Amino acid sequence: MEGILFDIQPFALHDGPGIRTTIFLKGCPLRCQWCSNPESFLKRSNLSYNREKCIACFSCVRVCETGALFELSDVLVVQHDLCNACGKCIDECPEDALKLYGYRESARNIVNEVLKDKAYFDNSGGGITLSGGEPLMQPDFTMEILKESKKAGLHTCIETCGFAAEAEYEKILPLVDMFLFDYKAGGSEKHRLLTKQPNELILENLEFLNTSMANIVLRCPIVPGVNDTLEHFKAITKLSHDLDQITEVELMPYHNYGEHKYEQIGLSEPALGIPAATEEQEDQWYADLAKLGCKNLKKQI
Ligand code: SF4
Ligand code: SF4
Repeated sequence: MEGILFDIQPFALHDGPGIRTTIFLKGCPLRCQWCSNPESFLKRSNLSYNREKCIACFSCVRVCETGALFELSDVLVVQHDLCNACGKCIDECPEDALKLYGYRESARNIVNEVLKDKAYFDNSGGGITLSGGEPLMQPDFTMEILKESKKAGLHTCIETCGFAAEAEYEKILPLVDMFLFDYKAGGSEKHRLLTKQPNELILENLEFLNTSMANIVLRCPIVPGVNDTLEHFKAITKLSHDLDQITEVELMPYHNYGEHKYEQIGLSEPALGIPAATEEQEDQWYADLAKLGCKNLKKQI
C-alpha cells in the first residue's frame, strides 16, 4: 500500500527513545499558529518556490501547462492554486528554486529504508517514529507502516496531535510502543483560536489511550506570550497526575525555523512572527512546572 510523505529523517534524537528514523506524513487537521512544518498541511504534493535562488530565466514558465507560473515585469509569479504538482517545472529550473513537497511511497519500501539503520536502533533502544502532519490523516497507510515495522522487529512511536477518530487509535494501539501525544492549550475556545480546532476530541483520545494502558509521552509546545501561562502549566500538571500512563512530560519550546516556508509554498505569513524561545525561558518553564509538582517532567537534551 502507498501513501504520501514529505520527508524521512534518519538519526532523529528527539522523537522517542534512542536513535530513530522519523517519517513525516502529509496532511494535518490542525493549523497551529506556530507550526514549523507548514509543508505538512495538505494531504497532497505542493510546490515550493525559493525566490532567493531564482535567476528569472523563465525556463519553468515554458513548460507549465496550467498557467501557475508566469512572467510579470521580469519577475516570476507563482499562482499556487493553479498548480497541479505535475513537477515539470522542477526539472527545468537550473537553480533548484522549485521543488515539490510530497511523494508517494509504499509502506514496505519505507520500512526497508528505515531498516538500514537497524544496528543503531538496536544499540540505542531506538526505532521508527511516524510524524507529520498527523499520521492518522492517512490511517490505512499508517497502519500498514506500523504492521511492516512490527514484522521487522522495530520499536514504534507515533507523534499525534490527538485529533482523529477514537476508532483509529484503537486500531493502531497494539502496534504502537509509544504515543508522543501533543497537548497545546487547555480551554477548547483557546485551542480553536490557536489551532483552528477545538480540543474535546483530543482530550477524549488522550483519556482513551490512558485507559487502554498505552505508553504516553505528553509533548507540550510552549510559545512565549501565547500558552506559557500559569493556567496552562496547571492543566499540564493536572494531566500528569490524573493520567497514570503518562510516563514523561516534555516541553517543546517554540522556534521559528519554519517561517520562511510559508511564503515559499504560497501561504500568508505565520500568524505569530515572534522570536524563538530562549534557553532562559525554557529553564523558567521547567522550573515553574516543577514548582507546581508536575510529574515525570523530562527536559530534552
Ligand atoms: S508543478 Fe506543474 S503545474 Fe505546478 S507550477 Fe510546475 S509545471 Fe506548473
Ligand atoms: S526556472 Fe528556476 S531560476 Fe528560472 S525562472 Fe523558473 S524558478 Fe526562476
